[in-house]
Amino acid sequence: MSPSSLPVDPFDLVIFGGTGDLAVRKLLPALFHRFVDGQIPASSRIIGIAREALDDDGYRELLRTSLSGTVDATQLDAFLQQVAYRSLDARKDEGWADFAALIKAQPDHVRVFYLSTSPELFVDICARLGQYELNKGASRVVMEKPIGRDLASANQINDAVGRVFDESQTFRIDHYLGKETVQNLLALRFGNALFEPLWNAGHIDHVQITVAETLGVGHRGAYYDRAGALRDMVQNHMLQLLCMVAMEPPSSLAPDAVRDEKLKVLHSLKTIDDSNAAQLTVRGQYRAGVAEGASVPGYPDELGHGKSNTETFVALKAEIANWRWAGVPFYLRTGKRLPNRVSEIVVAFKPVPHSIFDSAAGPLAQNRLVLRLQPDEGVKLWLTIKHPGPGGLRLRHVPLDMSFAEAFGVQQPDAYERLLLDVVRGNPTLFMRRDEVEAAWRWADPILAAWAASGEAPRPYAAGSWGPSAAVALIERDGRTWNDDSE
Ligand code: NAP
Repeated sequence: MSPSSLPVDPFDLVIFGGTGDLAVRKLLPALFHRFVDGQIPASSRIIGIAREALDDDGYRELLRTSLSGTVDATQLDAFLQQVAYRSLDARKDEGWADFAALIKAQPDHVRVFYLSTSPELFVDICARLGQYELNKGASRVVMEKPIGRDLASANQINDAVGRVFDESQTFRIDHYLGKETVQNLLALRFGNALFEPLWNAGHIDHVQITVAETLGVGHRGAYYDRAGALRDMVQNHMLQLLCMVAMEPPSSLAPDAVRDEKLKVLHSLKTIDDSNAAQLTVRGQYRAGVAEGASVPGYPDELGHGKSNTETFVALKAEIANWRWAGVPFYLRTGKRLPNRVSEIVVAFKPVPHSIFDSAAGPLAQNRLVLRLQPDEGVKLWLTIKHPGPGGLRLRHVPLDMSFAEAFGVQQPDAYERLLLDVVRGNPTLFMRRDEVEAAWRWADPILAAWAASGEAPRPYAAGSWGPSAAVALIERDGRTWNDDSE
């Protein structure tokens, strides 16, 4: 076992929505990988819950089909022996007493209730967990996004869950925070003397955060059309990334030390509302185009009802009103059907104050620190160096490149692997506290209100392009460009 694989106490992990896409595609594979690494204690149980009438063997077969492939069949069999299934309807009483007895049969186990269902069911599920006293002792609840669609609905969910589970038992998951690169951001900023003295408005020109997907809305249309890119990506994942870049050094990695600092950033975000949303935000919606070499339909056609006012793309300029970041723009951009699948944070430093090189040496470019979250997690620091050889002093802009997979010779674990075990350990550092979710909605709500009040439709963009031209104009107006790592 590697030193990072600390043992965990025996646990029962109950996945509500155990037959759903997230559970089958992400959570169970993550648990299987931890099992293969010897991190799942032998008496631990993983229990899938959904309404579908399956027994334990039926559920195991369903998982076997989705997990098999490159995995060792003997290990898969052994893992599946720790997996069980109960058919329950979150909204009906039937079956809950038996389920409660099953859980109470292991009173010493840590209990994790993972709510991988639509959020409308969170309230019913938690109420029943409370009714059967399954919230007592070392019990934890994990909530998937979206936590509400605005501040009011987020409060409703948090209040209802909070009636059953204490905040210290509540883990609001944002899988971006489990990514290796995000934690490396902490290591880079606070484990090296090099960056922190420069990490402020005096030396940083701007920050860009891009989360680009090549996929369209696919089978998630019903959910997505009610959400849109601002709610689905910006309010949670991208603001969390922004906080990790912008927060003050916490006094330690204690959960509340980190989360207090993130909260201060959220509170310091300048308001975007109907007075400035037209200048600071761009909404887009993809139309038919070519993505990954194939012709694809536009968003309204993919939805099947031909018309929608939901944005599949957002670009915006955020600002943090505090001493460290005054005047430093944070450009955020996310969308579906963009040319590349890439998530990255770019910290662009100010140019040197004076060039000593003559024009024949070539232009001086900004230093940039590029933190890539996907694909190929890693860090690049773009530097100016002299082109090697005797041909005169010519400047080149090249990256110090640290791809984690190459540097450490291993494929990085999926974010869910780390986060699931953090829940079992009871470590909430990488999870969102209630006040963070509320502060993020307090910032997002006026943007949504401004868009609704404007009555403007999202700007169309061709699938396979980088969004509407207005998104390019948003950053170019300030004399800057979106990062293109191909240079
Ligand atoms: P999904 O594929 O639609 O799965 C929903 C699950 O809930 C199914 O197992 C379903 O099974 C179960 N379910 C529905 N009604 C139920 C009820 N009344 N009682 C008990 N179980 C019930 O959804 P998903 O894509 O896995 O997403 C789950 C949650 O995670 C959503 O909140 C989603 O927004 C969030 N999320 C998903 C992803 C992703 O990649 N999929 C990513 C981030 C967040 P039965 O119909 O048999 O009951």
